[in-house]
Amino acid sequence: MRYISTRGGDTVPTFEDVVSRGLARDGGLFVPETWPVFTREQMEKLGRLSYIQLAQQIMQPFVGDSLSAGELAALVQDTYSGFTHPEVTPLTKIDDQLSVLELFHGTTLAFKDVALQFLGRVFGHFVYKRGGTLTVIGATSGDTGSAAIEGCRGIPGVKVIILYPHNRPSEVQRRQMTCVNADNVFALAVEGSFDDCQALVKRAFNNQELRNKHTLTAVNSINWARILAQVVYYFYAGLKAGALDQPVSFVVPTGNFGNVFAGHVAKKMGLPIHRLVIATNKNDSMAQFIETGVLTTGVVSPSLSPSMDIQIASNVERYVYELLNEDGAAVTKIMQDVAAHKNVPLPPAAHEALKQEFMATSVSDDETKATMKTVWEKHGVLLDPHTAVGVTAANRLCDQLPGKIIALACAHPAKFPETVRKVTGQNPPLPLHLADLYDRAERFTVMPNDYNAFVEFIETR
Ligand SMILES: *Cc1c(COP(=O)(O)O)cnc(C)c1O
Repeated sequence: MRYISTRGGDTVPTFEDVVSRGLARDGGLFVPETWPVFTREQMEKLGRLSYIQLAQQIMQPFVGDSLSAGELAALVQDTYSGFTHPEVTPLTKIDDQLSVLELFHGTTLAFKDVALQFLGRVFGHFVYKRGGTLTVIGATSGDTGSAAIEGCRGIPGVKVIILYPHNRPSEVQRRQMTCVNADNVFALAVEGSFDDCQALVKRAFNNQELRNKHTLTAVNSINWARILAQVVYYFYAGLKAGALDQPVSFVVPTGNFGNVFAGHVAKKMGLPIHRLVIATNKNDSMAQFIETGVLTTGVVSPSLSPSMDIQIASNVERYVYELLNEDGAAVTKIMQDVAAHKNVPLPPAAHEALKQEFMATSVSDDETKATMKTVWEKHGVLLDPHTAVGVTAANRLCDQLPGKIIALACAHPAKFPETVRKVTGQNPPLPLHLADLYDRAERFTVMPNDYNAFVEFIETR
């Protein structure tokens, strides 16, 4: 399978290349050149598979010759047998119409484990085959960092350096990055904001000499392999909910547009999804985009669902590329305008297409809390604040959505215990493997917000 850049100026021939490179050299995001499509008959068979078997079937056409069927099977088996639920991503029924899809049974209790546990093993496999080493760098406001660290810890030949804003993540989030006892893991607390961390990482990527010398690669959701791993649970849950026989919609708590883009890919591959609903918190640039067809940015304001506090959603570029009929030059222009904080309207036909597939709504912190409280009191289910944003959206739009609704549960309630405790009075217990998290020793380096200090850190570890 060949992959091409959304900006039209870069192509790579294999899955191995697309995974190792992360971002395209022209600044674009990689997308597959063609999309495999399953027939109804094939999907009926897919619906009877276990999660692990299904993952192999979905991923195989995208990995091409980079992994043999046996190698892919072993990687997938190893990845998902580490999840604490036998179904990997089980569906929990809330009422006749609504279920939540629990994506939080991986090591760090957020949906990002589904992709990053896989990606870490894929990195390890390619490094082992090819020899040499790989340095994974990433900036995080919380969830991505710990999931990337857990995905890469202890993998021979792979080093992982994660930058996070000093004193900003929650204690659980921080400890999940700093209480890791592995020689190949480095948590860097930067004296600055998340944006500062991201700027340091970007600058390192733009330094070709540094990039080549240390074979740097990225773990944020621009990496195609992450999207691919997420496509699997849309098929798994959609087929279980009967998508071949009745309308099924998904509600997706959205930040960077990565998770909901995976849903769009599942639809392209044949899964009949009635609507994809984008649920945002008050940082609503993606909801605005669906409603008005105008790409905007805005100032981020902190909310109860911090992993969705994003106003420039990087993955939307993959979708805009399709809307603009794969015109790389037009995408380049639009993304440059967005980066310069201009409001960019899409052509009317593109906006029409957008509204056919997506719905969107934005949810306040008060509404989020109200949902957490009601769902606990009425159904005995604890929701984390991100999941509650989605469930609020589902309740708001349920009359317009025939058939079944699946709301994605993106994090375990124990990952945001302060909010859950305050709102429901319940103390969500940490799963067994994390029960001693608060007692473990922390290991991290505090670094000034300074590019030269960062380069020196990379050079000397
Ligand atoms: C990352 C994250 C999101 C946002 O997902 P995107 O793919 O960036 O849209 C939502 N909820 C939680 C808990 C997350 O960790």
